[in-house]
Amino acid sequence: MTQRIFLSPPHLSGDELDSLRDALGTRYLAPAGPTLAAFEDDVSTILGLDPEERRVVALNSGTAAIHLALVLAGVGPGDTVLCSDLTFIASIAPAAYLGATPAFADAHPDTWNMDPARVREAFETSRAAGIPVRAVVLVHLYGRPLPPGHLAEIQALCREHGAVLVEDAAESLGATTGGTPTGILGDFGILSFNGNKIVTCSGGGALVCPDAKTAKHALSLATMAKDPAPHYQHSAIGYSYRMPNVLAAIGRSQLPHLQERMAQRKAVRDRYMQQLDGLPVAFMPEPENAAPNWWLTCVTFGHGPGDAHGHEMCETVRQALDAENIEARPVWKPMHMQPVFKDAAAFLNPEGCVGADLFARGLCLPSGSTLSENDVDRVAGVVRTALG
Ligand SMILES: *Cc1c(COP(=O)(O)O)cnc(C)c1O
Repeated sequence: MTQRIFLSPPHLSGDELDSLRDALGTRYLAPAGPTLAAFEDDVSTILGLDPEERRVVALNSGTAAIHLALVLAGVGPGDTVLCSDLTFIASIAPAAYLGATPAFADAHPDTWNMDPARVREAFETSRAAGIPVRAVVLVHLYGRPLPPGHLAEIQALCREHGAVLVEDAAESLGATTGGTPTGILGDFGILSFNGNKIVTCSGGGALVCPDAKTAKHALSLATMAKDPAPHYQHSAIGYSYRMPNVLAAIGRSQLPHLQERMAQRKAVRDRYMQQLDGLPVAFMPEPENAAPNWWLTCVTFGHGPGDAHGHEMCETVRQALDAENIEARPVWKPMHMQPVFKDAAAFLNPEGCVGADLFARGLCLPSGSTLSENDVDRVAGVVRTALG
């Protein structure tokens, strides 16, 4: 059987071993160490922040970063946390850890991201019910940022209603909107360096804080909230969320290649566009005045929203790819459709749920930066045959 083509496999830069050797040479197998601080500096620089500001805290996952952001936002039982409906569950699971009530805002058909009109409805409904929306978790889906206009609307709504904006940039490192990097557009930003992301530490994440004081607090919470004392003393409950120094070394060898990885992923998407031309396949829309990082190439089948035939085509193609040892995944199943969130409030597009339609007709194609032109052509060929 031909070699399996994965959805988004890690891409080794070739510098990992040297970087690891350097990190181990410092004998810092313990979680803290100089490589970790250097990694935080590198991440700051990529986000256009001054490393001296010390606003970035490296953690052991993106999910941990979201959890800490919500802790620092003061989220607790009785609060509502509003989240993009069309996302990975990691965006909202931490709200549940804190006993908060999740609520979901449908996607906008032109961006697949959180629709500002649904966010406005959510705030108004919550205000009328006397239940505060304490935080909003906004996702830049598949590396496509919200356009600046949509973002500004959501930022203004959060300010007006006193909600903390958490920007889940797990999928969008390197992407910009209105010229500003994703990850620094909210009160808190979160990044992921999981193995399937555009650059990886094999696992890991980072929290971007509004200032050094908050970052220091985050760091304390990430390391079991030890009071400054020679003995072990605790005045708060903390977590074991720090990124290991050795994993930071892998991250440091990956980050310099980010721009290259973005270009490679864009080339993959461009080639799919060329190869799938003329088929009833539409590509995820590209946002205006924003630059994606092209993390995944996602398509919808059929002739527009609600096309039941589009769902059939999507399933046919996915199974045909699977039979050829090619990994493709349906677009995220919306959170309000998840059994675990069946009772959650969902603010959906009145003309038909956008997220549900994208889930029914949408597929993420193999998009890794390691894909060769031959690989892309092989995938496209299977799609073409399955639809033929
Ligand atoms: C990957 C991902 C996360 C979580 O990252 P981990 O590092 O895997 O915990 C959060 N949100 C979104 C949208 C993601 O895709």
